[in-house]
Amino acid sequence: MIIGSAGPDIPQCSRAGCRADATHQVNWRNPKIHGIDRVKVWAACAEHVDFLAEFLRSRDFPVEVTELGVTVSAVGTEATS
Ligand SMILES: [Zn+2]
Repeated sequence: MIIGSAGPDIPQCSRAGCRADATHQVNWRNPKIHGIDRVKVWAACAEHVDFLAEFLRSRDFPVEVTELGVTVSAVGTEATS
């Protein structure tokens, strides 16, 4: 067992000022500038994953929260105009 070895592979929480290891990721997209195949990923600790997701939802961005390391190919649906 290795103690205290977070290593470079575990990203830190994206919340400003939080240095906790991420346990989740917030996958999101800005429909105004990103195509359907574009997925932005924020790493988040368990404490802040809801905060970050709500931050994006409040801007009407499609959001999908997953465990860390899950690849999401698309978030939300293509805008129909
Ligand atoms: Zn955090």
